[in-house]
Amino acid sequence: MPDGAPYRPEAACGATPPGSAPHTPPAEAPRGAAARTLRDAASLVRAGLVPPQAEAAIARVAERYAIAITPAVRALIDPADPADPIARQYVPDPAELVTAPWELPDPTADAPHSPVKGVVHRYPDRALLKPLLACPVYCRFCFRREAVGPGGGVLTEAELAAALEWFARTPAVREAILTGGDPLLLSPRRLGHVLGRLAALPHIEILRIHSRVPVADPARVTPALAQALAIGKPLFLCVHANHAREFSAAAAEALQRLASAGAVLLGQSVLLRGVNDSVEALEALFRAMLRHRVKPYYLHQLDPAPGTARFAVPAAEGRALLAALRGRVSGLAWPTYVQETPGGGGKVPLGPAFPEVPLPGDG
Ligand SMILES: *Cc1c(COP(=O)(O)O)cnc(C)c1O
Ligand code: SF4
Repeated sequence: MPDGAPYRPEAACGATPPGSAPHTPPAEAPRGAAARTLRDAASLVRAGLVPPQAEAAIARVAERYAIAITPAVRALIDPADPADPIARQYVPDPAELVTAPWELPDPTADAPHSPVKGVVHRYPDRALLKPLLACPVYCRFCFRREAVGPGGGVLTEAELAAALEWFARTPAVREAILTGGDPLLLSPRRLGHVLGRLAALPHIEILRIHSRVPVADPARVTPALAQALAIGKPLFLCVHANHAREFSAAAAEALQRLASAGAVLLGQSVLLRGVNDSVEALEALFRAMLRHRVKPYYLHQLDPAPGTARFAVPAAEGRALLAALRGRVSGLAWPTYVQETPGGGGKVPLGPAFPEVPLPGDG
């Protein structure tokens, strides 16, 4: 699917050859090759992101896991820096074909908690709706990496109707959480339709969307897309970003647009070796979020998806990083550090624990 083109399920399903859809880039967008999303080993070599001698190894990774680097993300990468924290999140590595003994294909156990296709119901009061499994970029550490990709996962009309019907007959669910894949790849019309149907249910009190689009492909956040979020009920938009540099000028504009449409902006990040595993990097990330009206919500411990071991940071180190941030940044900058219980037990806070302070009147 060409970058910036309106989302069409048939394109995401691979029925249309990449690059064949009619597409007019915005005036300020890069032209020619630089305007295309990089999706294979040869393109990564041509872009200078992978050395020519690694092309064959990267092509083998590409057979198993989807690749996508949008022009916006590519522009953030310094190809001269072998440790670039943006490149590390998106440029594939041959190590991805090595699965560690503790790694799992479905680490959060979505599948056993799915009452109908596209829905995951683990907590009584809230449930996930995954309208599609395509993303603007494919993160190398993704916990759903065995499921996401440009080739599939779009709910058919009948499947979407069945999923919405499940929400309609499950009154205990007060919060509908759109995730995927990335729900902001839907066309404004389709997104508006899904949100509108959910918001019309009397028992749905709040809606939430998890997305990487505002930082990974901000050109998609058109006024029409932002307007699709204005549905008359509280809508929380949880933006996935892991490094301060992801908050580019274009991302700032996209976030401004979403906030103006009434979305409450939250941030979620994954603690990643080589990306944000220092006090300085986390401080810069959370400060960047707040400057863009994004309240850090969760810092996730890496889920053990296959071939992601190079990103792992031990929890003890994560706790020490957060403890060092306390007092150094505004309380607003403070996320909850969480881990998914293997096997689908849900998210549990990982601390850090602080010494108990005796209060006047205690005991
Ligand atoms: C993460 C998750 C949620 C949302 O959990 P919060 O703690 O409310 O952010 C809901 N359902 C499932 C299945 C999840 O994995
Ligand atoms: S955007 Fe989210 S779902 Fe998509 S590849 Fe990245 S982490 Fe996975």
